[in-house]
Amino acid sequence: RRQAGDVAGRAKVLGERARDLRGKLAGRHERRQQLGQRQRVQVGRRDGRGHRPDGIQPAMASIFTRIIQGEIPCHRLYEDEHVIAFLDIMPLSRGHALVVPKEERAKLHELSPAAAAACGAALQRVAKAIVAATGAEDYNVLQNNGAAAHQAVMHVHFHVIPKHADGTGLGIGWNAGKLGTDEGKALAESVRAAMA
Ligand code: AMP
Repeated sequence: RRQAGDVAGRAKVLGERARDLRGKLAGRHERRQQLGQRQRVQVGRRDGRGHRPDGIQPAMASIFTRIIQGEIPCHRLYEDEHVIAFLDIMPLSRGHALVVPKEERAKLHELSPAAAAACGAALQRVAKAIVAATGAEDYNVLQNNGAAAHQAVMHVHFHVIPKHADGTGLGIGWNAGKLGTDEGKALAESVRAAMA
């Protein structure tokens, strides 16, 4: 009878432990769900789509954000409050550099006026130094916007690409058309109106 009593007691203890465990697991599941919801909200905010009345989409954090934040190394040429410039890791020619605003935007027209102005000033300084350091007097400034326009890193950047005497540098396909007078007049009017 004592043995039967022991077994009953142990069964009771085990039952209580199982209840405790179920309670703990339920709590963990609930916390995970809450965390998942928080993360989904953050992803939504980071993506930014549909949240801004001006339609500007903040760029997703790219490799350039990690360079700006010092998480991955670069051959830094210049840095100020708004801009960083460093050597391109796959250069088209010796001295190929990138001038990058710290503001996280994918395309040029999405930059704030302050960031755009800072890029302009930094570009001139970096170009001057690259000409002096590499001896290449000729160079191209290239700025791609969007995948169809050859943008690979979706964070605004300007390439400064020296054109050396050996022919290295940017190759350009320039399939020019002809602008008609009426078309030019109408187009210029619509762009001026968009600026107003
Ligand atoms: P784009 O096609 O205009 O987006 O050019 C992106 C440029 O970024 C390419 O020329 C790449 O070689 C350059 N690039 C990508 N990752 C790095 C990096 N970690 N450091 C320096 N340049 C990079």
